[in-house]
Amino acid sequence: EQARATASVYQIGMDELHLRQIRITSRLQLALHKGGFELNYQPKVDSSAGDCKQVEALLRWRDAEMGQMFPDEFIPLAEHSGDILLITDWVIQEVIRQQLIWLGKGRYITVSINLSAHDLLSKTLVDRLLGQLAHAGLESHCLHFEITESATISDPVAAIAQLERLRDAGFRLSMDDFGTGYSSLSQLKLIPVQEVKIDKSFILKLDEQETDQRLVRSIIDMGHNLGLSIVAEGVENEASSRLLTAWGCEYLQGYWYSKPLPPEALEIWLDDFENKRSGVLS
Ligand code: C2E
Ligand code: MG
Ligand code: MG
Ligand code: MG
Repeated sequence: EQARATASVYQIGMDELHLRQIRITSRLQLALHKGGFELNYQPKVDSSAGDCKQVEALLRWRDAEMGQMFPDEFIPLAEHSGDILLITDWVIQEVIRQQLIWLGKGRYITVSINLSAHDLLSKTLVDRLLGQLAHAGLESHCLHFEITESATISDPVAAIAQLERLRDAGFRLSMDDFGTGYSSLSQLKLIPVQEVKIDKSFILKLDEQETDQRLVRSIIDMGHNLGLSIVAEGVENEASSRLLTAWGCEYLQGYWYSKPLPPEALEIWLDDFENKRSGVLS
């Protein structure tokens, strides 16, 4: 009896979740056709130079009925429905549009784009990407791509071949969320990335947690031994940023510097950051 009661509560919960997922999936298609996506950009600070020339593009979606939606919820659903390929296309197109605006203002900003498992298996991704860049007159070094190790799991051979194509076309590749899931240093031998992003779960409380400090130091050292540069995401306070800088972590990203921002707000942030820096230097 007890078990059955629990089962039915569980059932109701699952049905609601399932309905929400169906609704999100169909609203996503509407957003793809009618608009509703935006990109925010989060600074990635160079710890030794103290400057910022790189940002990560993070997708935002405000739906008229469902309100503000976050990618951790809707990206997995778009992966499931296959709409992720169209979303990635939109993101790439939008980043290129933004790059042209920034170039017109004399700003050289490299943008990192997140790719999903489906993107790594898409036969046409690299050609479309190169076509879009050529059309805009941009070169491949203005874009970086971030992938997670889990995105390579379903078909590692095809995923690695795609990553090699991207690398050979001149795109810099990062292993995102490193340290979570199945990702391990031995995978870095197989997966052709030039950079590792340490997952924020190791960084958020870095200043307080000695175990995190030990783990992060060893990821940085081993990454460096493999010739990779290291990014820390989720840097939320000055103490953590100092530790990471002292340990040679090349790039710092997190709320301590800035949350992801709409493009105009990012420009203001970049100017402020540059002014403070030249103020310190002079
Ligand atoms: P991610 O690529 O690992 O991005 C980092 C996430 O950490 C972002 O969440 C960012 O807002 C958040 N973050 C950055 N600094 C801090 C910090 O100091 N503290 C805390 N607590 N969080 C911080 P967001 O924007 O919600 O994105 C979540 C995930 O959704 C991303 O994780 C990425 O996997 C995925 N995603 C976002 N945009 C796209 C996209 O355009 N395409 C694809 N395929 N995935 C995307
Ligand atoms: Mg990322
Ligand atoms: Mg990450
Ligand atoms: Mg993530």
